[in-house]
Amino acid sequence: MIVAADGGNSTIRRLLGLGALEADYQQTAITANITPERQHQGRAFERFTDSGPIALLPMSDNRCSLVWTVKTGDEIDILELSDQDFLAQLQDRFGYRLGKLMQVGQRNSYPLKLMQADQAVQQRIVLIGNAAHSLHPIAGQGFNLGLRDVAALADVLATTNKDCGDAQLLHDYKQWRQQDQDNVINTTDALVKLFSNNNPLLGHIRGAGLTVMDAIPPAKHWLAQKSMGLARKQPRLGRGIAL
Ligand SMILES: Cc1cc2nc3c(=O)[nH]c(=O)nc-3n(C[C@H](O)[C@H](O)[C@H](O)COP(=O)(O)OP(=O)(O)OC[C@H]3O[C@@H](n4cnc5c(N)ncnc54)[C@H](O)[C@@H]3O)c2cc1C
Repeated sequence: MIVAADGGNSTIRRLLGLGALEADYQQTAITANITPERQHQGRAFERFTDSGPIALLPMSDNRCSLVWTVKTGDEIDILELSDQDFLAQLQDRFGYRLGKLMQVGQRNSYPLKLMQADQAVQQRIVLIGNAAHSLHPIAGQGFNLGLRDVAALADVLATTNKDCGDAQLLHDYKQWRQQDQDNVINTTDALVKLFSNNNPLLGHIRGAGLTVMDAIPPAKHWLAQKSMGLARKQPRLGRGIAL
């Protein structure tokens, strides 16, 4: 059996001639490590701007992992800025929640698109992780979703003494994963569309929605559980149980 875990541009998917639904968001993510003046205290920050979200995610030694979304094409000039000018532009867009942004590491850029393979499970073949579905990083769920794919496939295979490529077995895996995958893909896509729209009325609705969510911890908890796919049956590895 083949488990294709070779990423969004999966060679295996291409060689097998498997189709995929693709939607280009016309956005590009610029990534880099940033050191801010203030301690991040393990908190993640995300700011929604008219060109897409800017996220600073906590890392060791008070560094933050930056994901700065810009309109595709705009990244060319931003990547060429000096460190000082890059930090000044980022500060201007992100604000001072973490104080002055002091240092930036190596920068990279990734065009953002939604890709969902037509059939992630075929006879004796399973596409997994980004090879099956690549998402916009707005909700930071792509890697988590891939890990749940891996954990569920391992769980299904460890529970049987059938041939690992058995059609019923792979069908069970597909059934198990389908709803979580659809849920995360659709929620992420809806968030991108909601937060990439410059309509002022939508801006107010978004602002009100985020304020309400912040003020009602159970609502926030429910949304987080749902977005992280934790509202469904979890594979054993996902619950910290050995197979
Ligand atoms: C800017 C950005 C920010 C993100 N932030 C988050 C986040 O905060 N949280 C989150 O959950 N997800 C996030 N993601 C998504 C996450 O990066 C992906 O979901 C994850 O990397 C997918 O893992 P993967 O192993 O399926 O694919 P990949 O990470 O693409 O790995 C595939 C691997 O296969 C290798 N490979 C390909 N072909 C071959 C071959 N022929 N032989 C051997 N090896 C091969 C590649 O070199 C690569 O190492 C983000 C994505 C982006 C672009």
